[in-house]
Amino acid sequence: MSFDPNSRLDTSQVSDRRGGGGFRGGGGSRRGGGLKLGGGLGGLVVVILVAVFFGPEALTSIGLTDDSSSGRSTSSGDLSECRTGQDANEQADCRVVGTVNSLNAFWQGYLPDYGISYRAPEAALENGQWDTGCGVGNSEMGPFYCPSDETAYFDTDFFQVLKSDYGSSGGPLAEEYVVAHEWGHHIQNLTGTLGKAQQDPQGEQSGAVRVELQADCYAGLWAAHAATTNDPETGKPYLEELTEQDVSDALSAAAAVGDDRIQQKAQGRVTPESWTHGSAEQRQKWFIAGYTSGDLAKCDTFAVDRV
Ligand SMILES: [Zn+2]
Repeated sequence: MSFDPNSRLDTSQVSDRRGGGGFRGGGGSRRGGGLKLGGGLGGLVVVILVAVFFGPEALTSIGLTDDSSSGRSTSSGDLSECRTGQDANEQADCRVVGTVNSLNAFWQGYLPDYGISYRAPEAALENGQWDTGCGVGNSEMGPFYCPSDETAYFDTDFFQVLKSDYGSSGGPLAEEYVVAHEWGHHIQNLTGTLGKAQQDPQGEQSGAVRVELQADCYAGLWAAHAATTNDPETGKPYLEELTEQDVSDALSAAAAVGDDRIQQKAQGRVTPESWTHGSAEQRQKWFIAGYTSGDLAKCDTFAVDRV
C-alpha cells in the first residue's frame, strides 16, 4: 500500500500539464512541432543526442527511453481527485503528488543538517510533447529533471512501460523510486555535483554514471526516512513503514533501468564503455547504500575508486 490512507495530499506541489490543460508559469509556448530528438534512431540514441544537444545543462533522466508507443493511454489531467493517501495508493498521478509531498518534507528537514538549504523544485505531469528549459521534452524520454528550470517531468504512463517493457516488478515503491531519483538530481543541482555528468559523460566508472548512482542513493536515502517524514500540516507521516516487498519493488525498478539490461534488450549485447546510468547491479547497490545508512555522506559516489 505504501501511503497512510489518511494522510493528506498537497496538489499545489505538482503542476498538471497533461492534455494541454493546467499549464502553469506562463513563459513557455506549447509548440506542436519543434526539435525531434532521435526520430527513427531508437531509444538509446535519444539519451546520447539529448546530452549533445543540451550541452552542459543536459537534462538528466532515469536512464530509460522508450521507443515504442504501444499501449500508451493518454490520461487527462485532474489532480483534484488526489486528496488522501488512499488516493495515492490507488492512482499513479496521485502517487506522484504524495511522493513529491514526502520528498519535499524530507529534504526540507534533512538537507540543512548538512549545511545546505533546500528549495523545492517544480514537478510537472506531462504527456505528448512539451517545452522545457532544456529543450523539447516528450513522453518517450522517460522521466527527467531539467536544471535550467529546476523541474522534474513525469508522464505517468511511463510506470506502465517500466513494468510491461522493461520487466520491473511494479508496485508503489517502484514508482516512488523513480520520482525520488529525479529529486536526487535536484539535490545534486543544489549541491553542485550535477554538472560532473557532462565532464565525463560515458563509461562504467564515468562522472555521468557516478551522478546517476548518487541519485539512486538519494532515492534510497529518502526511502530510509520516508516512514518518519511527517506532513508539516498534520505531524503525521505520509508513508507507512516499508515492507520487504516495497524495497524489493524499488530494487526491481532500479535494476530494470540498468544500462546493461537496457542494452541487452535493445542491441543484444552489453557495452560498458557507453554506459551513462550504471548497471542493474550498480544501481541496486547504491540505492541500498542510501537505504541502509540513511546518511547523505554514504552517497558520495565520487569518493570511491569504483562505483
Ligand atoms: Zn537520472
